[in-house]
Amino acid sequence: MKITMIGSGYVGLVSGACFADFGHDVICVDKDEGKIDRLNANVMPIYEPGLEALVKSNADAGRLRFSTDIARSVANADAVFIAVGTPSRRGDGHADLSYVYAAAQEIGESVASCTVIVTKSTVPVGSGDEVERIIREVRPDIDFAVVSNPEFLREGAAIGDFKRPDRIVVGTDVDWARDVMQRVYRPLFLNESPIVFTSRRSAELIKYAANAFLATKITFINEMADLCEKLGADVQDVSRGIGLDNRIGPKFLHAGPGYGGSCFPKDTLALLKTAQDNDTPVRIVEAVVQANDLRKRAMGRRIVNALGGDGRGRKVALFGLTFKPNTDDMRDAPSIAIVQALLDSGAVVEAHDPEGMAEAALIMPNVAMVDNPYRAAEGADAVVIVTEWDAYRALDLKKLKAAMRGDVLADLRNIYRVDDCTKAGFNYLSIGR
Ligand code: NAD
Repeated sequence: MKITMIGSGYVGLVSGACFADFGHDVICVDKDEGKIDRLNANVMPIYEPGLEALVKSNADAGRLRFSTDIARSVANADAVFIAVGTPSRRGDGHADLSYVYAAAQEIGESVASCTVIVTKSTVPVGSGDEVERIIREVRPDIDFAVVSNPEFLREGAAIGDFKRPDRIVVGTDVDWARDVMQRVYRPLFLNESPIVFTSRRSAELIKYAANAFLATKITFINEMADLCEKLGADVQDVSRGIGLDNRIGPKFLHAGPGYGGSCFPKDTLALLKTAQDNDTPVRIVEAVVQANDLRKRAMGRRIVNALGGDGRGRKVALFGLTFKPNTDDMRDAPSIAIVQALLDSGAVVEAHDPEGMAEAALIMPNVAMVDNPYRAAEGADAVVIVTEWDAYRALDLKKLKAAMRGDVLADLRNIYRVDDCTKAGFNYLSIGR
């Protein structure tokens, strides 16, 4: 099948490369010329394990191409996917749909009859209706269908998630569009990946409901961690004890500094705005958003308190800046709020991250990026593990301690054992233990 992907960011590029790997003929389009030039030279715009090899092998096989020309790329496609960004709108937190609607307008100008237009971007319920209206206005003459197909891949594990999804959600009431989507996902269909066919509105809501639920699970265990600290319990045991219950499940029960990233913060906010607009407030999600915001800032204060309540004249080394390991994505990373709190207290901050330092340097101009964690720790009063990259899982604790001036090790991901850190001479802080 001929597939065109509008937007070659995280989702568009990974989906496009995976569709090409399924054997489809794919064009990934982006309006960012520099990005397309780099992709044509096999230089990846993001760090994602396995992506470079996947793109190269499919481009070499002639199944994957990159272009800035929407009109030509759309004209012959069987399916056109919209995978542009839907960030939070400044001021009110609603999803900003301007990129989606601009893409719909451009698609409308060159799309041929019997094409399926698929919204893969995360969009509020009813956006598919508006995409359809925009295209219909430009092209009253043709037959087309607008389908919702939200994406659930996780950054850092994106290719595996795309090729072995827990489920595929397809929202449409149009029979021929459903057949096209079945052919698009045929390899996964044969793999017996569950496909949920539903209405377009239900598909749109499924994505927000899934992210809000996961954000709730994280926030729940974070609050249990705070309670553990007060009550002398251990949140890791509590997580295990509840996670072994099949009705609850073990995933997303790791206490930490609060969720961040390119999806949960903006999607939870957009869901609660949609709910408020429809006079059906989702109070659980409202509480989650508020608790998570407060938590990220509280993490910074926790570190300042461990330094005696004043950061002036102190140096803090941060390990891990990206919102999770195996990505260079810095969007809404908890490290941003932590760095701000530390700088506000007067502390000097140096940081290391295996892949995220270039991105981070753009938004943290007052933080020195250091290419080795032990060097970042030199003369530091505190080391803070913010993101659980594998590179920090087996640090030489004695060497680390010897490099430092002070003794605070704040492990916001609970990757070390309390005993080991105490033995190495650290004043060890972790979460909920
Ligand atoms: P991104 O910012 O990485 O990429 C979006 C790309 O679209 C950019 O390269 C931009 O230049 C391009 N673009 C914007 N308007 C365009 C236009 N009119 N024509 C051509 N290109 C255009 O965004 P992303 O992280 O890939 O997210 C895309 C959507 O997928 C969002 O709605 C997001 O919520 C959703 N999503 C993201 C993830 C994730 O992990 N990143 C997971 C699931 C769903």
